[in-house]
Amino acid sequence: MPRLLDGKLVRDQILSELKPRIAALHSRPGLAVVLVGANPASEIYVRNKVKTCEDIGLFSEKITPPATITTDELLNVIADLNARPEIDGILVQMPLPTHIDSRRVLLAIAPHKDVDGFHPYNVGNLVSGNPGPRACTPAGIMEMLRRCEIPVAGKNAVVVGRSDIVGKPMALMLLHQHATVTICHSKTADLPGECRRADILVAAIGKAGLIRGNFIKPGATVIDVGMNRLNTPAEVGAVFGDNAAKRAEFEKKGSLLVGDVHPLEVDQAGAVTPVPGGVGPLTIAMLMANTVAAAEAHTARS
Ligand code: NDP
Repeated sequence: MPRLLDGKLVRDQILSELKPRIAALHSRPGLAVVLVGANPASEIYVRNKVKTCEDIGLFSEKITPPATITTDELLNVIADLNARPEIDGILVQMPLPTHIDSRRVLLAIAPHKDVDGFHPYNVGNLVSGNPGPRACTPAGIMEMLRRCEIPVAGKNAVVVGRSDIVGKPMALMLLHQHATVTICHSKTADLPGECRRADILVAAIGKAGLIRGNFIKPGATVIDVGMNRLNTPAEVGAVFGDNAAKRAEFEKKGSLLVGDVHPLEVDQAGAVTPVPGGVGPLTIAMLMANTVAAAEAHTARS
């Protein structure tokens, strides 16, 4: 059986290391979270972020404009947060309602307060290897690899998915740590073959169980970023066939959370991240780390 890479354990390590850094600052680091409209999934994510702030002693402020807010009005909200000295980090929870120009909103966040690491200025810093906030999910994965002593240099890393928030920054971070990196996407000709070359396989696709057992090289480290909720018996059947245990679990819980890697086909892997409890907890931990680093930089400037 593969080694289970416990994201909660790594999260707890990261958070406990932040506490003395927070205590050393003359004021509490502040994170503003902007949640536009009512989106149940986003509300859960935001609640978890705010709760983690409280747990480790960060000041947090939740701003909840209605879904009818215009792009210009939202830009004013961001301008106000940019100007407030007690706010070190600004996070705009995505996705935004479709009538809002998300790109303009992300561009409006002051780069030194961009704790998501999505601003082009910070993406440029990542590309060039300059310091600055990094996208939280891939940064958390790098922390996990380091802390679990999984070597990266010289290894073949395959990243499936090329989004701006996970796949691309993930590939760059692995490259900076001297992996030989391949990026796959929906037009990749031979996905199983590419994946089978991976010593480190990162799946960031958003398709339940797409990565099957025959995609995985024996002994590979498999990082599953996907978070896919199966809500109907048909969806459960599409991934698990007539597996009685999974059907019973679905009946009991009403839905199943499944990664992009088929959870019943990882036996030959060397190590895997579970879903839930793998990558998810790391993302929030790195958001906290970025906020503390922004506050430290703020203190150093003032
Ligand atoms: P996006 O939808 O932005 O990107 C998905 C990527 O997967 C695209 O590059 C797409 O290719 C590729 N893809 C889609 N279908 C296939 C296929 N059949 N074969 C190969 N590649 C394919 O998703 P995100 O990057 O935002 O998120 C990916 C997953 O990670 C989601 O499940 C999301 O919920 C989860 N997530 C989890 C986080 C966590 O903290 N655990 C944080 C962020 C995301 P193309 O570019 O060609 O369309």
